[in-house]
Amino acid sequence: MKTKKIIKGKLLSSISPLEILYLDPGFFVISEDGKIEEISKEMPKGAGQDSQFYDFSGKLICPGFVDIHNHLPQFTLSGLYRGNLLEWLKDIVFPAEELFSSPEVAELFAEKFFHELLRRGTTTTSSYVTSHKDATEIAFQCAERSGIRAFLGNVLMDQKAPEYLIKDTRILLRDSEELIEKWDGYDGGRLHYVLTPRFALTCSFDLLQGIGKIAKKYDVHIQSHLAESKAEIEAVMDMFSGFENYTDIYLKAGLLTEKTIMTHCVYLNNDEIETLKKTGTKISHCPSSNRFLQSGIMPYRKLEKSGIPIGLGTDVGAGYSLSMFSEMREMIESSKTIHFLDPSANYKPITSIEAFYLATLGGAKALSIEDETGSLEKGKSADFSVIDIEQLNVCDEDFYSKPEDLISKLIYGNGENYIEKVFVRGKQVFRK
Ligand SMILES: [Zn+2]
Repeated sequence: MKTKKIIKGKLLSSISPLEILYLDPGFFVISEDGKIEEISKEMPKGAGQDSQFYDFSGKLICPGFVDIHNHLPQFTLSGLYRGNLLEWLKDIVFPAEELFSSPEVAELFAEKFFHELLRRGTTTTSSYVTSHKDATEIAFQCAERSGIRAFLGNVLMDQKAPEYLIKDTRILLRDSEELIEKWDGYDGGRLHYVLTPRFALTCSFDLLQGIGKIAKKYDVHIQSHLAESKAEIEAVMDMFSGFENYTDIYLKAGLLTEKTIMTHCVYLNNDEIETLKKTGTKISHCPSSNRFLQSGIMPYRKLEKSGIPIGLGTDVGAGYSLSMFSEMREMIESSKTIHFLDPSANYKPITSIEAFYLATLGGAKALSIEDETGSLEKGKSADFSVIDIEQLNVCDEDFYSKPEDLISKLIYGNGENYIEKVFVRGKQVFRK
């Protein structure tokens, strides 16, 4: 019985935002329990009777993507435009989320959602479900079967949303505790529960504080939206008038922790940035969504300089694609726009290598799972994609020697279309 796997291919993986590992060819050994045992330029010594050899010569092997922010019930409505964030939520999102009160709908779409992520090379997702506890339970079951790594949470709202989606504060908190006990850390940490207040506007302060207490009691992740658009900030500050700023609301409720991801952060003042930094909060950058809803452009370089860990999120359905290649493209192009609008600011556009880091290792760091996934590294789980780069139609072989060009070509050439196989913990979870 062959218990180990040996993989051969062109290995590409981030080391830091500026450094990349590229072995052509490279090899790695996957242990019986799905971990990378060693990586080398040569065929590993001792490879033999107990190993099965997978020859992906000529193909690119890169770590599975980590999409740290998206909405499961919204992937069918991506591309539907109705003006700004608050209008879009009211006219498009809330009615679509209500459909998840049906278990049949919840199962059908959750199955499809995880499949759509995996086939685009995303092996870890942090997703908002809906306010329905049953739909969230079903989403966990579907994620469990699909093989994906997932952080999932029922959306917590007790005000300022349609009656059919809001719930009593105590019921929401009870739902969360039950889901935590059942799913957080499931299957050796492949699945996690994440406390998911939609944003301050749809949550009473009692609810936010209750969430903070549960986060502390169980040491679980939190995800929410922060400072996405100007109209949203105005509405939030009208409602929470006694607070210094938007971030201060989450801080005082006990929601800013090392396991918290705040999404968007387009409009933060220096005090707010300092607060996020001090509390160890992470940021999810969602450039396509910010452009689609005309929210603004997150000042990436400023936030990066502060030292706050940042990952990338598709934010589907305001983001219009579950492809992390597409999101990387948006990230780079948005940064060029900042540069273009104010060349004197000396804003350095983001490179393909930086974008790739955010889509993989940066995302894993934002979720505090960098010891487990996010790069091809000894000791980590074997989560990776096999990409047929020959279909990129490149005439010059030299091109394959420059990883930055290879990544750029995939980013601008819809690289997700060339993904042939995807593995999580060394087990195949998608095949074309
Ligand atoms: Zn979102």
